Amino acid sequence: MQYSINSFKEKMEKYNFNLKKMYGQNFIIDENTINNIITSAEIDKDTLVIEIGPGAGSLTYKLAMCAKSVVCYEIDTTLKDLLMDNLDGCNNVDVIYQDFLKSDLMNDIKKYSYKKLYVVANLPYYITTPIIMKFIEDNIEVDKIVVMVQKEVGDRFKAKPNTKEYNSLSVYLNYYFDIKKLLDVSQNVFIPKPNVDSIVIELKRKDNKYKLKNEKLFFNLVRDSFKQKRKTLKNNLKNYDLTKVLEVLKKYNLDLTVRAEQLPLEIFVDISNNI
Ligand code: SAM
Repeated sequence: MQYSINSFKEKMEKYNFNLKKMYGQNFIIDENTINNIITSAEIDKDTLVIEIGPGAGSLTYKLAMCAKSVVCYEIDTTLKDLLMDNLDGCNNVDVIYQDFLKSDLMNDIKKYSYKKLYVVANLPYYITTPIIMKFIEDNIEVDKIVVMVQKEVGDRFKAKPNTKEYNSLSVYLNYYFDIKKLLDVSQNVFIPKPNVDSIVIELKRKDNKYKLKNEKLFFNLVRDSFKQKRKTLKNNLKNYDLTKVLEVLKKYNLDLTVRAEQLPLEIFVDISNNI
């Protein structure tokens, strides 16, 4: 595997491969960036790594060197020959050519033995949120997610209450994970160069101190609370038992005129457990 723009272009030509915008194909061609992602992800030989979108395999190749096994999902079958060439000699990598969002992840990984399950990827930005939500919705116990995302999206993932980035996704993700930014990434390390900034973000599964009685109810409550961001809970939660919601809010010296963006995770959990 060679990391240079020239070797990448040669391979593209050799295998008659054209980059596709519709699949969010911005490939990393800088070895330092790959090394930084790999080092910060702290992968070892007990780790099974899931990678969404191996592309030409620049990240995959290094993941294979550190991890026990790597399972990749790639939607673009025209990458097959190029990817096989670049992953030559990596016998702990399996590539599944499928839309990740339609995959039966639980079933696909059950044949692997591992102690830790990580997701490490330079994500296709057009489906960042559905990819992350799939791990939650499919009940996959991922220990850590280290992903390159568009900066604005990453900012929303780790947003705190009373900021303009804070939304329902910030609350959901904050329930399951400790979230932090690992790296800023220059636009120049990609081919083609994207017109947005990128960061690498870490979502580490946390041992949650707030226990939910009903996850589905919690998800619905958070979604509905943020339905119209500038409106109060009284307006957004018309279909809920507002007397019970108010009872909980009073404990925090709040009332129904509060807006969702002001509420931390703890209060959402408390409301959800008491309505
Ligand atoms: N990992 C490579 C790298 O860093 O150079 C490529 C990353 S590129 C940003 C995103 C990759 O995701 C592309 O290879 C693209 O074809 C793939 N992809 C896009 N949509 C996908 C989907 N729904 N399921 C699986 N792979 C997808």
